[in-house]
Amino acid sequence: MDFVETLQRLVALQKTDSGLDELERMKKNFLQEAASLDANVNALKSKIQEEKKNLEDLLKHRKTLEIEIGTLDTKVSKYLGQQNEVKSNEQFAALKMEIEKSKEEKGKIEEKVLDCLFKEDEQKVKIQGLTAQLAQAEKKATEDKKELQQKVTDCDKSAQDKKEERKKQFSELPQEFAEGYDSLRTHGKKLAVAGISEEKTCEGCNMNVSPQIFNEIRKNIAIQRCNCGRYLYVKD
Ligand SMILES: [Zn+2]
Repeated sequence: MDFVETLQRLVALQKTDSGLDELERMKKNFLQEAASLDANVNALKSKIQEEKKNLEDLLKHRKTLEIEIGTLDTKVSKYLGQQNEVKSNEQFAALKMEIEKSKEEKGKIEEKVLDCLFKEDEQKVKIQGLTAQLAQAEKKATEDKKELQQKVTDCDKSAQDKKEERKKQFSELPQEFAEGYDSLRTHGKKLAVAGISEEKTCEGCNMNVSPQIFNEIRKNIAIQRCNCGRYLYVKD
């Protein structure tokens, strides 16, 4: 096999592998997108749980206040009963003051109850809004995920085809170059076969390619590697 053919095969193999890399990148993005749709739904669910808990706390607080009101009512009834039995004006006046104090206290608590009711209503509206938002997010997630799943399946199919093509291309390379190529790829250089840019630089590492090496490649004297290790080729 001459240099020209070997280099052409290296370039073709790189093209297939770059295609595979791109498919893998796309698939990863689709899966991430799907995951973020789920995360959005879950975040809304947690938020609703949190707001429901806040509503429960408000209800509990109101219940406590209502019990306090009941206690005060009982007190007032008791004082009213006692007023009928007292003998002295002083005792009567003292009870009257207690009654007024209790009623005043009750009035303050009733205001708090109203405040609670108001907040409960607000909280219910908030929960309703979030629930509607969740329904929408779930619907969108289901639809979009179906689409994303299809895209992932398409990626997998294309990748399968490319992998078979790659296998064939790889097996047709002279062993020395197959190993060299593989070694570059497994050591992080996804671009193992780099074109030479118009500025005469390696497209893998951006370093200058010497005129001598450039000429050797162009004249098909030898297959050359850049200092970064990549195989170099002159683009059409
Ligand atoms: Zn380089």
